[in-house]
Amino acid sequence: AKRNGGGRWTWFDPIMDQLADSDARLSNDLRQAIIRDELFLVYQPIVELPHGRLAGVEALVRWRHPEHGLVSPAVFIPLAERDGQIMEVGRWVLEQVIHQTARWQREYGADAPTKVSVNVSARQLNEPGFPAEMEALLSAAGLDPARLVVEVTETAVLGTGVALDVVRRLHELGLSIALDDFGTGQSSLSLLVDCPVTWLKVDKSFVDGVTSDSPQAVIVNGLIGITRGLRMQAVAEGVETAEQAEWLYQAGYRFAQGYHFARPMPASDVELLLTLRDTR
Ligand code: C2E
Ligand code: CA
Ligand code: CA
Ligand code: CA
Repeated sequence: AKRNGGGRWTWFDPIMDQLADSDARLSNDLRQAIIRDELFLVYQPIVELPHGRLAGVEALVRWRHPEHGLVSPAVFIPLAERDGQIMEVGRWVLEQVIHQTARWQREYGADAPTKVSVNVSARQLNEPGFPAEMEALLSAAGLDPARLVVEVTETAVLGTGVALDVVRRLHELGLSIALDDFGTGQSSLSLLVDCPVTWLKVDKSFVDGVTSDSPQAVIVNGLIGITRGLRMQAVAEGVETAEQAEWLYQAGYRFAQGYHFARPMPASDVELLLTLRDTR
């Protein structure tokens, strides 16, 4: 390894080489993943407080790698964003989610998950043709756009003017927009003015702090006032304990998501929840 003048490791470092190498290998493997049917989706319930009734689900992608086992989307989604494969992965995800949601709509009617959320990355949002692609997929599946929530991050929307336009057009198509990981990106409250946001997803890093006397608790508390005033809905992310759930309910939160309620699960388990809900 070589050090440059500033004393920092340069990219001649063998460890960095290895990292880049494994990145490249994983990138190659990802190219095969769709063809080899290694990607699949799980769905995490979003529940209504305080009783925990199913309000919707968020689709989350998984990759079962033939050698490494499950690879986290926290690893391969950023990789796919860097190497451009996110367009293909994103399209695959969208097709699956729309297909699944249409099936739920047909089979469960009014009892189907009211809202199904799908994560859309910055690159997809910067594709001017994205809304048309979305529209085509929705109409091919006969899916009511109102069933679908598109989750975007502040950073992705703030990137360029194209992204903001794309978000507005998606909203015009009848989809709802959720601002994901709120508070962690290049936060700008003006986004809440410029962007047709229905759902504000308050990031886990804030929710983690609610039961202690912390700045996070103050912020989580304050956000409820903002969402009410702007006629948006707040969702607390990453709720892990009953204490947090109780605190959030007292603070005015009506929607939550987290391991305390349910982990991401296969579609068949979501259907089990739907049938349970019927008989309750
Ligand atoms: P995200 O959109 O913020 O999704 C929430 C993540 O938090 C999920 O991780 C979920 O499993 C996890 N989570 C939910 N409740 C809890 C909790 O109570 N405690 C903890 N510790 N974690 C909780 P996951 O599935 O590993 O996804 C990580 C990230 O990868 C997502 O964060 C999202 O940014 C990205 N991602 C996942 N699926 C997709 C996709 O289909 N498309 C795109 N573009 N990104 C995706
Ligand atoms: Ca999300
Ligand atoms: Ca999130
Ligand atoms: Ca996150």
